[in-house]
Amino acid sequence: MSRERRHVAVVGAGPTGVTAANLLAERGLDVVLISREREPGRPTICGEFIPEPEWARSILPEHLWWVVDYTYELLDLPRTTLTRIDVLELRLGSRRVVELEFPSRVFDRARFLRAAARRAERLGSELKLGTTVSGVELQRDGVRLILKGGREATSLYVDWLVAADGVFSTAARSAGLGPYREVALAVNQKRSRVRYPEDRLLMWVDSRVAPGGYAWIIPRGRGTANVGLGYPLPSPRSAAEYFSNLVARLPQLSDSSPEDDLRGRILPVAGLRDRLHVGRLLLAGDAAGTCIPSNGGGINTGMISGALAGSSIADGGGGAAYESAMRAHIAPILGRALRFRRIATLLMKYAPVWDLASLILPTRLVRSAVTLSDWPGA
Ligand SMILES: Cc1cc2nc3c(=O)[nH]c(=O)nc-3n(C[C@H](O)[C@H](O)[C@H](O)COP(=O)(O)OP(=O)(O)OC[C@H]3O[C@@H](n4cnc5c(N)ncnc54)[C@H](O)[C@@H]3O)c2cc1C
Repeated sequence: MSRERRHVAVVGAGPTGVTAANLLAERGLDVVLISREREPGRPTICGEFIPEPEWARSILPEHLWWVVDYTYELLDLPRTTLTRIDVLELRLGSRRVVELEFPSRVFDRARFLRAAARRAERLGSELKLGTTVSGVELQRDGVRLILKGGREATSLYVDWLVAADGVFSTAARSAGLGPYREVALAVNQKRSRVRYPEDRLLMWVDSRVAPGGYAWIIPRGRGTANVGLGYPLPSPRSAAEYFSNLVARLPQLSDSSPEDDLRGRILPVAGLRDRLHVGRLLLAGDAAGTCIPSNGGGINTGMISGALAGSSIADGGGGAAYESAMRAHIAPILGRALRFRRIATLLMKYAPVWDLASLILPTRLVRSAVTLSDWPGA
């Protein structure tokens, strides 16, 4: 086995990992970004929805607004935006529709990830794509990673490891942090000939389409849309069954046809893990549990955690500084979202109860549950 030593490794070229790698490289650290796919962002399994930066500012204290500026600069929305969304149309059960003003975008996630990975490379990071981390070993002064890319496994020794390798984080498991506790399955398919306005987004919260979860139409422009649904596991039926039921129920989809396969991924939906660092290993993004439990959105919070992990390493605060920033500023938002999800899941158990509850829910509460903030003012 060959022996190589670097300063920082970031595992995972998702939104979280590319953010951490860019920030670390920009601060002049010797970084290697490792990911198992050959092309960042492929295949895309995502609704590609992102709120305007004002939303991200509204959930963070002012001294962290630099993180928002940093992450939105990387997202490069002037180049990656596909459509602008003004209104969220929320269908609660079968009888209530709430329209919320929520300025946001649908963006080309694959284009963003490709560009951000290349940007990290231009800043001096090494990209190791098509490479899987099959295990990590914590050491007194760093971390050893076992990499599988070609025929034989190689060892890489680093001072710091940012594990942004998703909810099933190999790094977390091999460092003894155990599996993540509560997960949901979300599936999505790009479809064409969708009859739905391009400046709106449909969220349908109803157990008849997604038990304990919700379904969506997220327009991508030119009559195409991301159509999908997410629900907590375990669940009695398969995602394919739920999805064909959804397509049959929505008249907006009656003439639509698939543009790619129905693909899914598991998401963490119970808030942050109990520990976000051990030794010189920092967990970030879905690997840390940053997905918002009530809506499954994880790009923003993942990127924020990637920036915080990178800056904590670059500033010398290490895992402890990172963990305390995350507990102080991200955990409360996720905790709030989790409480909303628990209440909704309970009410959604019986469709007639949910229909009734939906009719009396104050709009302000619905807004809070979806946006987790008062922006842009209810
Ligand atoms: C169907 C669906 C729709 C969604 N829609 C939205 C949305 O509209 N808006 C939103 O904000 N969020 C959405 N999300 C959630 C969002 O996609 C995730 O929260 C976000 O991608 C988390 O980013 P991440 O970088 O932490 O992890 P990931 O995006 O999961 O990236 C992990 C990376 O690590 C790599 N990796 C994993 N294991 C290894 C290993 N052992 N070795 C090397 N590389 C490894 C993977 O290949 C991948 O590149 C959606 C999720 C799903 C499934």
